[in-house]
Amino acid sequence: MKLNGTSSNTPSNSTSSNGQPVHGSHKNGYSLDGAYADELVDEIGDAHGASSIDTPMRPDAFALDDELKIDLIEEHFREIMSILGLDLTDDSLKGSPRRVAKMYINEVFSGLNPANKPKATLFDNKFRYNEMLVEKDITVQTYCEHHFVPIMGKAHVAYISSGKVIGLSKLNRIVEYFSKRPQVQERLTIQIAEELKRVLETEDVAVIIDAKHLCVSTRGIHDVNSSTITASYSGKFSEDATKQELLRYVTQPSVSI
Ligand SMILES: [Zn+2]
Repeated sequence: MKLNGTSSNTPSNSTSSNGQPVHGSHKNGYSLDGAYADELVDEIGDAHGASSIDTPMRPDAFALDDELKIDLIEEHFREIMSILGLDLTDDSLKGSPRRVAKMYINEVFSGLNPANKPKATLFDNKFRYNEMLVEKDITVQTYCEHHFVPIMGKAHVAYISSGKVIGLSKLNRIVEYFSKRPQVQERLTIQIAEELKRVLETEDVAVIIDAKHLCVSTRGIHDVNSSTITASYSGKFSEDATKQELLRYVTQPSVSI
């Protein structure tokens, strides 16, 4: 399945044969003028599209173990700070490279590793509850893969049981797992929906995400008010009456306790 890619609104020579953006001199042998290449990279960042439903990963993504990855990221992040001119002997700064490295591997990007995927235990739908189940306002905290700054918002997920149900917290866990990756919101929405369909053995799944992108609010256009909504409706949720019922639940005020 293809998302609206970046190639449709960027010049035809802006992507290589494998759909990857071209950054300056490219290994395929052609090069772009530096300023033009920079502009292109910015445009791809702003387009917020993605080329595939799968997070682009190299086949050797897990050839290094986590401890070694932390050591290497620490080394490289220290280099970045040093290039910025920061004094790495300062008490406040000297622990930052390792802190960032551990945060990347153990926390915010831990969802890149399939070993961390939540195991979903299915239960029989003993109550024969055949209506939709909606869990709304699930916290979403992910990172924009174009700028490596947070995207924060809420996810609403819904399904109609095909005979099996899963624990409510597993819905949160699935959202969390796919969020802990460099992401674009469109891909995150679809990855959550596809996993729910697979786990729940049904096409009757919907996912809506409403989120604020710090790359939009703290840089570039500096729009602090806008939020971005993405949605995936499958099976019965593609039908208008079911979709409208879901949207009613999602837009009504949440209970306060
Ligand atoms: Zn961004």
